[in-house]
Amino acid sequence: MKKDTLIHGQLKDFPVRFLCADSSAMVEEFRRIHLATPTAAAAGGRLITAAVLMGAMMKNETDRLTLIAKGDGPIGQMVVTAGNSGQAKCDILNPGIEVLINVAGKLDVAKAVGEGSLTVIKDTGYSEPYNSTVKLVSSEIAEDIAYYYALSEQVPTVCALGVYVDTQGVVEHAGGYILQLMPNCPEEMIDYLEKKTRQMPNVTELLKKKMQPEDIIHTIFADGAYDYDINRRLQPRYYCDCSRQRVESMLMALDEKEIEEIAKEKKDVEIQCHFCNKKYTFDIESIKKMKETK
Ligand SMILES: [Zn+2]
Repeated sequence: MKKDTLIHGQLKDFPVRFLCADSSAMVEEFRRIHLATPTAAAAGGRLITAAVLMGAMMKNETDRLTLIAKGDGPIGQMVVTAGNSGQAKCDILNPGIEVLINVAGKLDVAKAVGEGSLTVIKDTGYSEPYNSTVKLVSSEIAEDIAYYYALSEQVPTVCALGVYVDTQGVVEHAGGYILQLMPNCPEEMIDYLEKKTRQMPNVTELLKKKMQPEDIIHTIFADGAYDYDINRRLQPRYYCDCSRQRVESMLMALDEKEIEEIAKEKKDVEIQCHFCNKKYTFDIESIKKMKETK
C-alpha cells in the first residue's frame, strides 16, 4: 500500500514556512473505519489533513493538537486529535450522511458542516492547554484554518485542502498544504504567493498527476527559483491511542450507584472508542473488582 508523506520546511531567503502532505492512505483508513459516505469522507478528510499539518508544527513528541468543527449541518461535530509526528484520529458524529453536491458539482462540505465554530486546542502538557475558538467563515475547512491563524495567531496563512472520492466511494487522493508568512516578509514575496496560490490547481488534481508533496512545494516556489530547506519528513497515519487501561480508568470514574445500575442489567458493559470503533467489554464482576482494588 502507498505510504503517506508530510514535509515541513522554510524558504532560505524569506521568512516563509511551509508544510505539505499527501494524506490519501490515512483519510481512506478513516473512511473505512467510520464507513463514511463521500461527503463525510471529504469533510473529515480535510479536517484530518489540516490537523496533521498543524500538529507537525508542535515541538514535542507528547504535544497534541485538537481541531473541533462544530456546525449546524447534518454531519454534526467532528473532532480530530493529532500529534507532532503525523498521527491523527477523528471522531465524527454522522459519517453516514447523504451525499451532498454543490453547484460546482463537488462534494458539498460547507453544507454538510453548516454554520458554527472551529476550536483549536494545543496541549503541551503544561498547565491549561491553549484554546481558541473562531467562527467557521466558509465551512469548507481550508479557509476556516486560514481565518483561525489570521485572527487568533496573527499569522498570515494560506491553506489548501482536498479529498477526492472515486465512484466506488473510496478515497483516492487526499492532501493539503499550509504556507505561513512570518513577520517582516517583503511585499515581493507576499504578492508572489497571493498570485501563485490563486493559480494553483486543486491539491487533488496535483496528486492525481502523481505529484509528491516535494513536487507541489517545488511548483509553489517558482519551480525552485526560491530556495528552500526541508527540515522534517513524516509519515502521516491514522492512529488511535485508546487502550483497555484507558477505558478502565474511565470506568473507575463511575460511582457506586452507576455500577449498581449496570449490575442490575446483568449484562456485560461494552464501551466503544469513538475514534477507531474498537470495542472493549467488561463484565460487572471485573468492574466491581477493579473498583475495590483501586
Ligand atoms: Zn480508539
